[in-house]
Amino acid sequence: MTENNQVKQTREQYEALLERLRKARPESEIQSAEERLKLPQPKILVTGKKTIFINFSDFPRLLRRDENEFLNYFRSQLAINASIENGRAIFMGRPDKSSFSALISRYLKERVICPVCNSPDTHLEKSKQTTLIVCEACGARSAAKG
Ligand SMILES: [Zn+2]
Repeated sequence: MTENNQVKQTREQYEALLERLRKARPESEIQSAEERLKLPQPKILVTGKKTIFINFSDFPRLLRRDENEFLNYFRSQLAINASIENGRAIFMGRPDKSSFSALISRYLKERVICPVCNSPDTHLEKSKQTTLIVCEACGARSAAKG
């Protein structure tokens, strides 16, 4: 085997390993990233036909995400309209209360936590077609989902 082939093979093995690590990312690592972020429990209040997410603005602040970007995620995932008033989010409907914490976890996985090193210290970079999670810990640029 020539040296070049060896280098190529090692590289391929390395990439395959990375891919496996990405897929096998254990839930516990995501949970520890959530703990590092020190996110509160969402406070949800249902009044009549509306659902009020009382401590809504704490989340984009702690995650360093745009409030509207964060709200839009909930809007599209729950398929109901919502607006922000004085740090609260008002949803025009009555989604299940547990769906809020589930969506926060999913938002973290899809748009906050770096899929390479599991760091929550990331920011989003948007272009016309894609949104990238840019990791401030390892420098990886990964496509955001959701
Ligand atoms: Zn990273």
